[in-house]
Amino acid sequence: KAKKHLGQHFLTDENIARKIVEGLSFENYGNVLEVGPGMGVLTKYLIEKEQKLYLAEIDTESIEYLKKHYEKITEDSFVGDFLKHDFAGLEKEQIAIIGNFPYNISSQILFKIIDYYEQIPEMVGMFQKEVAERTAAVPRTKDYGILSVLIQAYYDVKYLFTVHENVFNPPPKVKSGVIRLTRNPKEGLFGNEVLFKQIVKAGFNQRRKKLSNALKVLNIPEALKTHEFLDKRAEELSVADFISFTTLWKENQ
Ligand code: SAM
Repeated sequence: KAKKHLGQHFLTDENIARKIVEGLSFENYGNVLEVGPGMGVLTKYLIEKEQKLYLAEIDTESIEYLKKHYEKITEDSFVGDFLKHDFAGLEKEQIAIIGNFPYNISSQILFKIIDYYEQIPEMVGMFQKEVAERTAAVPRTKDYGILSVLIQAYYDVKYLFTVHENVFNPPPKVKSGVIRLTRNPKEGLFGNEVLFKQIVKAGFNQRRKKLSNALKVLNIPEALKTHEFLDKRAEELSVADFISFTTLWKENQ
């Protein structure tokens, strides 16, 4: 029986499962980590690949089920809670992420991927449609926000397809969307990442205000006070604008 507090909605459509797995390129990395395998609808296609497969699952019933039904899945396959997983244990090895994610922790999963982007070249995953759309959003739209800018600073985002509620057991309340992230950290980010995140967050936290107001909390450097971006709202700046503004800010701090 599905456990609601763990965000369990099991995918029942094999074609969609196969399509999600085929969303990964399986090129240039030796490891794949599946988040929340549940009863293994994606896992059974993943174990056929040559990459070493890790599974992050916190439901003991699912873990027992998977070990019993798939010979290749053993106690060693499991790494526990994804949000607590320490990638450093993999000694900088490259590891792709895949999953039909538990929707209650979608943003936390995405922020964790950014934190470990040096080890994560690719991700294919299902989120609630609204979150999937936010990651792929472009400037001057209502979906464009902190999640869009932070993700797109590190990854190219492709919205792959929408999945209807009725292919899950139990059906979720909302539609789902599958996206692919391909690592492509944007130039100018390095060394400025903390400040970049602060500027993006402060800018969008008061998204109706001009940046001259929204960024006041961060003490805007004197030399930047007449910069044209300050006359705009956060949603009018592209990811490249945010990065170049961060670089300027750092130089004038
Ligand atoms: N992959 C299966 C499928 O597509 O049918 C299950 C997907 S279900 C939406 C999400 C899964 O994530 C559940 O099996 C749940 O137990 C697991 N889960 C929830 N929180 C987790 C966490 N913090 N780390 C790893 N797995 C988690």
